[in-house]
Amino acid sequence: MTTGITPTFDGTAGVNLAGRTAMVTGAGSGIGRACAQALADAGARVHVVDLDAEAAKSVAEEIGGRAHVVDLAQRDLVGDLPADVDILVNNAGLQHVAPLAEFPPERFELLQKVMVHAPFLLLRQTLPHMTAQGWGRIINVSSVHGVRASAFKAGYVTAKHALEGLSKVAALEGAPHGITSNCINPGYVRTPLVEQQIAAQAAAHGIDPEHVVSEVMLSRSAIKRMIEPEEVAAVALWLCGPHTGYITGASIPVDGGWSAA
Ligand code: NAD
Repeated sequence: MTTGITPTFDGTAGVNLAGRTAMVTGAGSGIGRACAQALADAGARVHVVDLDAEAAKSVAEEIGGRAHVVDLAQRDLVGDLPADVDILVNNAGLQHVAPLAEFPPERFELLQKVMVHAPFLLLRQTLPHMTAQGWGRIINVSSVHGVRASAFKAGYVTAKHALEGLSKVAALEGAPHGITSNCINPGYVRTPLVEQQIAAQAAAHGIDPEHVVSEVMLSRSAIKRMIEPEEVAAVALWLCGPHTGYITGASIPVDGGWSAA
């Protein structure tokens, strides 16, 4: 059974980011796009980073930000991104589903490059600016799979667990300089990444997409609906606001009770 109560969002919950600069990776779609929008609505200047040129440009245009078309799997290109950002949202990601023994090594490597190496390189690049000014916010879009495993997701679960460790080290090193670093850990969010998984699983199991959502994806969540990207963005925005300066090194579940069970 799914429940259809979808939240609505209004305003910026008292967070004012005028004068701040943010960089959001994977901002062309889904959660990244919602984060870029929320940060821009709160007054931040936003660097919209994505592999997909059309998506990056369209989001940048929508929110009055700047598009950067970059493949984060390519180390040299990451170095071309701006270093003087106050808020870094490490969000870009991708999934690959296969049993361990059949998991293609090049896909495993790609997932680590995009979801672990690129965040590491961007932290190296942006921390000096945040440290010099005595304020910074690092938000790592992890997953419930940063703290729990699922079968057939070796690349993704490995990458998200690594991102959790990286986030905690950044929290410890950043603390004396007014920098916080946290993970957000969503369950299934209604985005293109998940829409593709629903279609693939429906085909694989020979069941209809509605059943994939209710019987497979939401089986471990106590709240029986998918999360909206804006609900994840609201947490990212809150972490940049005036009430959360003491929250660091944390992993904030937005998983409808999945990890409580
Ligand atoms: P999405 O597919 O809608 O968006 C991901 C974006 O990342 C895309 O625009 C894509 O072009 C970009 N991207 C992928 N590879 C890239 C690369 N090499 N260089 C630059 N950009 C690249 O996905 P989403 O669901 O919004 O996921 C965003 C993040 O949230 C991911 O890290 C994902 O693991 C995480 N997450 C998603 C869910 C979910 O259910 N959707 C749940 C938990 C965590």
